[in-house]
Amino acid sequence: MEISALQQIVKERYFKTDSERGIYHTALWFHEEVGELSSAIATGDQQNAKEEFADVLMWLLTLANLMEVKMEDAVADYLKNPRKLPTK
Ligand SMILES: [Mg+2]
Repeated sequence: MEISALQQIVKERYFKTDSERGIYHTALWFHEEVGELSSAIATGDQQNAKEEFADVLMWLLTLANLMEVKMEDAVADYLKNPRKLPTK
């Protein structure tokens, strides 16, 4: 599945509710999901981590929809000029 197709599905399912909630409170939901993913990683719970990765991605796409950012374009731009990874 392409990113744009997934983002459109998220928009069709959740945009009205997300718009009513607003960007700030939607961002709080996103942060909560990132926390849940971090906990799953820390405990080594692979099945829960899988679910939380999906949660984080869906909330990320929700935020992108609210900010009118096309993630397909954002990722393409990123790949043209990726940030350098920190070295230890
Ligand atoms: Mg979750």
